[in-house]
Amino acid sequence: MHLTWTSRLAAGTATAALALTLAAPASLAGGTGPVDAPAPEPVGDTATDGSRDGAAPADFGPKNVIFLIGDGMGFNQVDTASLYEHGVSYHQVDVEPGAGDVTRQPGRATQIYQHFPVGVAAATYQHGAGYDPAVEWGSFRGPMQNRPDSAATATALATGVRTYNAAIGVDPDRKPVRNLTERAQELGKASGVVTSVPFTHATPASFVAHNEHRNNYHSIAREMLWEHEINVVMGGGHPWYDGNAQRRDEPTYQYLAEAEWNALSGGETQFELVETPEEFAALATATDTPAHVFGMPQVAATLQYDRSGPDRAADGTPVAGAEPFTAPKNTGVPRLDEMASAALNILDNASEEGMFLMVEGGAIDWASHANELNRQIEEQISFNRTIETVVDWVERESNWAETLVVVTADHETGYLTSTDADPGWKPIQGEKGKLPRATWHTGGHTNALVPVYAKGVGATRIEQYARHEDPVRGAYLENIDIAETVFDYWGRP
Ligand SMILES: [Zn+2]
Repeated sequence: MHLTWTSRLAAGTATAALALTLAAPASLAGGTGPVDAPAPEPVGDTATDGSRDGAAPADFGPKNVIFLIGDGMGFNQVDTASLYEHGVSYHQVDVEPGAGDVTRQPGRATQIYQHFPVGVAAATYQHGAGYDPAVEWGSFRGPMQNRPDSAATATALATGVRTYNAAIGVDPDRKPVRNLTERAQELGKASGVVTSVPFTHATPASFVAHNEHRNNYHSIAREMLWEHEINVVMGGGHPWYDGNAQRRDEPTYQYLAEAEWNALSGGETQFELVETPEEFAALATATDTPAHVFGMPQVAATLQYDRSGPDRAADGTPVAGAEPFTAPKNTGVPRLDEMASAALNILDNASEEGMFLMVEGGAIDWASHANELNRQIEEQISFNRTIETVVDWVERESNWAETLVVVTADHETGYLTSTDADPGWKPIQGEKGKLPRATWHTGGHTNALVPVYAKGVGATRIEQYARHEDPVRGAYLENIDIAETVFDYWGRP
């Protein structure tokens, strides 16, 4: 039986006792979360997900693996967008801190990924920290401790190794660790990363490069351009365009150095450079595509999030209460789903053996850092459409018996809650087409659990890893277990 939020909601709609032990936060210094059940058996011994005893790693399990990562996408970021799009939420709870009562708000799955057979949660903490439900739900300040960053969490999702904040693809000793794009290439599969923020930013970087600090953009760019077999890299960071997708008088080499830009635009790297929406669109349907494509939309850092508009004051501060889509959209840049479509087709053409693709909705995090609810909703909606596009590709060009799709987040950003939260947690309310009634409690990240939705071959194994129980979010796994699921099938030499 698949354990989903739906079945869990049905089973415990009224109120469930919070089994909180409000003792000292012992696990916080311990380094690992609570272990409630043994780890899954090696895949050769499990029959439920299509694996076979004694088979070579590459011969079973998912042929294609697609990770969709909403940066900063907590349960409430998903729901503010669902309230705006459909007037319905799915993950809302009423929780009294430490006192023992959890009431689930009636809700309905409205997003395609909420209908996936596996819906669990993930702990996102960095090396040396932990997740303890008694701390997280014991007081409203709980999620503000042990806050991970996108480098540590993306490295966990890309490599299955927990590391320090700011680490890009290296372990706590700063040693490089193998990531899923590298493993895919070793198996003869194609691989790629796509993001709505700069290609050298923490999430895409952690799926390709190895660097002791996320801020070393130029050396990360150098490594991504020259040192890997990866087929597709797509993201922002164009030196010649500003945040409104307007051409600059002089270039700004923030995310890659001038030498790398000259090499990339001069055709001296392995990649063919594409920049315009028309070029991305052509790659989405062409039967003959280059084996290595670098997609850099003509915008400074992020596709839409940085654009100016009447929802921001002259100094860039958000105008309180502004509705989504108030600002005219940047033109001349592709949408994230169009970039994902191009990447899928390029990777599909590049190898008969399958693919690993990571697609990041990166600016959900940026809008959440700025506590800009209307633009958080815009970015979540863009990510929702991208997930639909990926699902459509699987059902049209592949199938669920050979492909695994995982939708998750690296961490939550902004501590987004209803306006009447603190000291407890109350359901966020809203109506279709209107800004929901929600508020923020930090400009940084939190240690809150994030959602994990999975479908396809191997999804049940992700569920097997979800062996911890959170009194509010239910079954959860460690973020490192998501990559581990893939390594279980693909091997980790
Ligand atoms: Zn962030």
